[in-house]
Parts: sequence; C-alpha cells; structure tokens
Amino acid sequence: MAHSPSAAVSASRRILIRLHEVMASRTGAQAKLNKIVEIIGEEMSSEVCSIYLLRQGKLELYATRGLKQEAVHVTRLALGEGLVGTIAKNVETLNLDEAAAHPDFAYKPETGEEIYHSFAGVPIVRSEYAIGVLGVQHHDPHRYAEVEIETLQTVAMVLSEMISNAGLVDEAPGDERVAATQTQIVGGLQLVMGMARGQAVFHQPRIRIEHTVAEDVEAERARVYSAFAKMREQIDKLAGASEFGVDGEHQEVIETYKMFAYDEGWSRRINEAIDSGLTAEAAIERVQQRTRMRMRQIDDPLLADRMHDLEDLANRLLRIVSGQLGTAAQLGLRQDAILIARNLGPAELLEYDRRRLKGVVLEEGSLTAHVTIVARAMGVPVLGRVKQVSHLINEGDLLLLDVDRNQLFVRPSPEMEEAFDNKLTLTQKRRADFAAMRDLPSVTKDGTRIELMVNAGLRDDVATLDATGADGIGLFRTEFQFLVSSTLPQRERQQRLYRDVMDAAEDRPVIFRTVDIGGDKALPYLNYDDGMVEENPAMGWRATRLALEREGLMKSQARALLEAAAGRTLYVMFPMISEPWEFDAARAIFDHQRQLLMGRGKMLPTAIRYGAMLEVPALAEMLDVLLPKLDFLSIGTNDLTQFLFAADRAHPKLAERYDWLSPAILRFLNRIVTACKAANVPVGVCGEMGGRTLEAMALIGLGVGRLSITPASVGPVKAMIRSVDLSSLQAHVAMLIKDPSINSRASLIAYADAMGVELK
Ligand code: PEP
Ligand code: MG
Repeated sequence: MAHSPSAAVSASRRILIRLHEVMASRTGAQAKLNKIVEIIGEEMSSEVCSIYLLRQGKLELYATRGLKQEAVHVTRLALGEGLVGTIAKNVETLNLDEAAAHPDFAYKPETGEEIYHSFAGVPIVRSEYAIGVLGVQHHDPHRYAEVEIETLQTVAMVLSEMISNAGLVDEAPGDERVAATQTQIVGGLQLVMGMARGQAVFHQPRIRIEHTVAEDVEAERARVYSAFAKMREQIDKLAGASEFGVDGEHQEVIETYKMFAYDEGWSRRINEAIDSGLTAEAAIERVQQRTRMRMRQIDDPLLADRMHDLEDLANRLLRIVSGQLGTAAQLGLRQDAILIARNLGPAELLEYDRRRLKGVVLEEGSLTAHVTIVARAMGVPVLGRVKQVSHLINEGDLLLLDVDRNQLFVRPSPEMEEAFDNKLTLTQKRRADFAAMRDLPSVTKDGTRIELMVNAGLRDDVATLDATGADGIGLFRTEFQFLVSSTLPQRERQQRLYRDVMDAAEDRPVIFRTVDIGGDKALPYLNYDDGMVEENPAMGWRATRLALEREGLMKSQARALLEAAAGRTLYVMFPMISEPWEFDAARAIFDHQRQLLMGRGKMLPTAIRYGAMLEVPALAEMLDVLLPKLDFLSIGTNDLTQFLFAADRAHPKLAERYDWLSPAILRFLNRIVTACKAANVPVGVCGEMGGRTLEAMALIGLGVGRLSITPASVGPVKAMIRSVDLSSLQAHVAMLIKDPSINSRASLIAYADAMGVELK
C-alpha cells in the first residue's frame, strides 16, 4: 500500500488515468462502475471497494469488488443509516480500524462484509451534498493512511462528475428539495435590518467542471499559475478602489484577502492536487472541498468568517481558470434584485450595482462576518442562516424580504404582496417623517433638553450623525476595528481611525470606549490564557480586566487616542469597571502616556474627559468612591441587566423573560441616577434599552439626561421626547418606583396614551 506522499500522488494519478480511460470507453454506466471499483481496489491493494449511489432517497450499493455480488442493487441504506449513511448524511470521511465497533455500524448480511475489519469511506459530493459514498474495506484491522484517504477523496471527486453526467443519481439528495413552485415563508438570522423587494438572483451561476482528469499535468499547472497571477492582480486593484476608503475596516478586510491570495500553502495544496492527476479546475475544487469539510468542524465563528473569505477567493480563482467569469455582479443586475448566496465575501458584495441591489439572503452568515459589516455600511438588509436557500428558491422568483420581522417570502401570494407593500410604505413614510425631524431640537414640551447620541463602531457609521442630526457619538465601540481585522491593529491604524472619526464628527463629541474584547468577542489572533475555555465568557476575562493585564494593548490604544485627539477634547470611557481601582488603573495608563507625549513635545488633547461604564452591579455600591473621579458615567444596560437578573443577554429563551421596565431595574437605575445628580456627574444610558421609545421615556422620567442609541432609533425617540412633559412624567415614574405592585410597563403605556406621547 502507498504510504509516502509521492507514492500516493503517483497512485492517485495512475488511478485517475485508468478511470479516464474507462470513462471514455463506450461501455454502459454499470459496466464502467464495475470496472472502476476493480481499478481502485487493485491500485489501493484493498480487498473491497464499493460504490453506493443515492437513488430515490436511499444509498444503493451500485458496484463492488470484494462484497457479494448478490448484494448489488439490493443493499440499500437510508441517509444516516449505517456507516455509509452516516458518511453521506454528514458529508464526512470515516476511517476505522474496526468498522463493527463504530456506534453507527449496521450489519447487512447479504454483503458478506463481516470478514472485513478496517473500513474507510468518503462522500461523493455534488453541490455540497453527498450523492454517494466510495468505500474500501480490508481484512486486517488497521486505519488507512492519510495519503490513502486523500487518494480516495480525489477519486470520489472525479466519480462525482461521471456519475452526475450519467444521470445515475437523484437530482437532489433525499427529501430536502422542496417543490420549488409553492409559496414559502422562511426565517433566519437577522443580520442587517430593513425591508426589500426584488427578483431572486443567484450570486454564483454554478461553474460546471467539464474535465477533472488532467491530460498534461504541466499545462494544468501553468493554467493555475496564470489564474493566481490574475486573481492577485484583481485583489490588488480592489485594495486601491475608492469604495474601500482609505485605511478603513474595508482595508483590513482586503488585507485578509491579500494574505490568502498570496498564501503559499494554498497554492501548494492546489499544486499537489494537480500532481495527483486533476485538472486545474478540479484541483481548486478539491482543495476547496477539503476546506469546507474542515469548516464544518470549526465552532469558532470568527475563524469560520475568515475561512469564508478564502472560499470567496477560491470561487474567484475557479471562475478565472475556467473562463466562466460571470458572477451575477459581472453579468449586471437588470432589475431590483435580492441576491442569494451560500455565503458572500465583502469584495464580491461591493461589485454589485447599489441602485439595483435591494437585499441579500445567505445560507450562512453571521453578525461579525465582514460581509455583514459591509452590507450595513451600504444600507442593504441581510437575512442570514436561511436553510436550503438554493433548493427553496429559483432564479427569478419574486422575493419579499422583511428582516425586521425575520421573514422571507418566496413566490408570495397576492395578499402577502399587498400586506408587505403596505408595511413597506408605512416604514418609508415613518422614515421620511423622522428624517424631517433631523434639525428639530431634542427638547421636552416643558423645555428640558435631552442629549441624543448614536452608538457607532465603524468609520462609515459617522455618516449617521448627519443623517439623524444626533448630538454626537455616545458610544464608539473601538473593538469593532479589532474584530474585522485579521491581526491586532497597529497603533497607527487605530490612530487614523480615531482621527478620521473625530474629523467627520466635527465639533460633536465622540466618546471612545476602550476595547471590550474577550468573552464572546474573542479575537482569534490574541493569545488567551493558555487556550483556557471560559465557562461564562460574559463574566470572564474581558474588557478592562483583560486590557489592564495586557498592558501593551491598552497603552497603544491610549497613545492612539491621545495623538488622534491632539488639539481637541478627548472623551474616553472604560467598559466593565467592577471596582473603582480598575478605573484608576486604566486612567493611570492614559496619564502616563500623556506624560510621555508631553515629554516629547507632542501636541496633546486640549482636555480629556474620563468616564466609566456602569455594567457590573457591584459598582453601584461604590459610587461614593467612584463618582468624584469621573467626568461622566454611562450605564450599559445590556450587560447590567443580564447581570442583575443573572440572565444571559444572548439566550433566546431568556430574551423576553425579564422586563427592562420591571421595578427592580427602575429602582436600580434610579439609585444610580440619584447618586450622579448629587455628585453633579452627568449620566447617560448607552444600552439597547434607550433605543426603544417606551423604555427611553422611562429613562428620561428617571432623570437620565443623555441617551446613546442605535441610529435608526433617533427619530422615534426624538418624537417621544418632543411630545412629553418631563415634570409630569417624572412624577409618574416616581410613583412607579414607590409602588412595585403596579405593572410599570402597562402603566407607562397608559400614561403615554393619556398624555399624547408619541411612542412609534
Ligand atoms: C452595554 O452593555 O449596555 C453596552 C452598551 O455595551 P455592549 O453592548 O457593547 O456590551
Ligand atoms: Mg457592555
């Protein structure tokens, strides 16, 4: 048996050459399969080689060398049944020294397989689903060598083409294909809010790989070389394109792309696949298949996002090499479109005509994926994690996308269309009404001004300041830059971002929050404590706790902020402060950096305003110590309420369980606000709570003078503020705090109703 890589390469190439001859022969499909199992078994010195194909939802033994011939077309396994069914269902490879010991083993007496111990099987994949399984078995209990598995996978890939072309398998696996003619309503993961209507357009018309077996290995290698060169040229060009701004997050994304495009390991693996006898197209696809299989085992969403970038590039390479260049973007959108893709790279998204691209539906996707960040900056709604999207939808189907309500209507009925259009008109009208309020002051009926600021985290978010007429940025989540980057952003890069944001904000304040990384915002490139897995990451080593320990991180951020704010006021706040000394320690780092800069004669900020976030309940007990040190306090209700109720903020079952307007929260917030008032320290709220009109009303009723909210909420919250009488509201809220038996939510709704407060 071949164990060394070069032996495997030649074994694989030999098999492919022989398979190629069989395929080109004039015999029927069954005769070809019979021959193929002989060749593979012989070349791999395997006593058994079998091919199972998916027919009418079952995996049918189609050809075998070594098992009893009576079992052919008789042995049938359901997806998930036995080892073969498991391989097909999970699209995974199995390599076992003792097949019968595996929990999924199912004994099929007609095959006579009981005398064989070792078993290796690989899926035969088509459009990312298994259409069959190729398996080998051996008498001796041993595992097949890695290189032999590689050979099997390569052969399975070639078989996939031949089998589909011969029409031997089901069109689509199992019962997963829904009759794509009926109306469907599906949901997913809300990635970018909004509504859109358009025709379904598939991002990637499927690339057909015509030939899989190379006739001239060197010629195939040359094709891949020139495709790589072309792809690198394209990526370099994209890096210079104006859409990416200068040194923005997009730039970081492109740098990740560049890193992959120039990755020697990747081109080497493709070359090795060519060595094994595949054509350039098949070699790229083969490497991509392997990446996908690995991706399935990755549970880290950030890492998975980077892998998607690599897939994006692999598709690009495949298009170049096969000459099938057109993505839907290159072919051009002819009408309003909703783009459908398994996943999408940010660069691919930016290639679309923005006037026609109305929405995006992804089979995968996540909140931290680059494409989500870019789509948000483009104002394109995105629904992610929609299952089986390519099976549900046909090119050209009418789609109605309502991410706000987490619904995608596929081929909607006329009634659905009408209801959707009404909602859309209403949303557009509301948006226009709110936009008209842009320049109106955020003042209550009795003359109290409430500061309305926006939460931001990306360079492009600054545009929302002008669009909404907000007073400034009340929370700039600096960790976003770290999250979209593949490496720790260097100080200069941080500084440029901060300076650009302050420039764009002009004289409006920007409150920079130092990085809140760690916990669920872990960075793959930051070395955590010996790879320790945190049981409760939200309560773990994150934010200021982490930054104080990784002093270098905090120092360089402090330097970047101080330098960026030279000649103006710097607002900075520290997240997740649990005890006053943490604030002191964080501030000391800034003081020290300031001293250093002063010593070097550098220009400094004209003033620095330091704040803390109150997110940890314990800090509320220490306000007498903390407040005298602060210029402002910002209450992070997202974290604070999860800790107060011991209820994970990301847990779907708990999302609705505890009310932000419950007496416990109102009383807790009241205590903080009262202490801040007494100490004359301005207090604001920057959690999601402040972006909901009723909750915002309760907050200003408690005396909160500043809300920092999601930009889309500025209009509705301003309308509420302008229609409320603050002194009457404060009396009402005071009454609720005194009497916890009252249902405060219901009572506040009734109050707003009676007093004509706008709660849209
Ligand atoms: C909060 O916890 O309320 C907050 C604003 O911070 P983040 O949502 O980023 O944790
Ligand atoms: Mg928080």
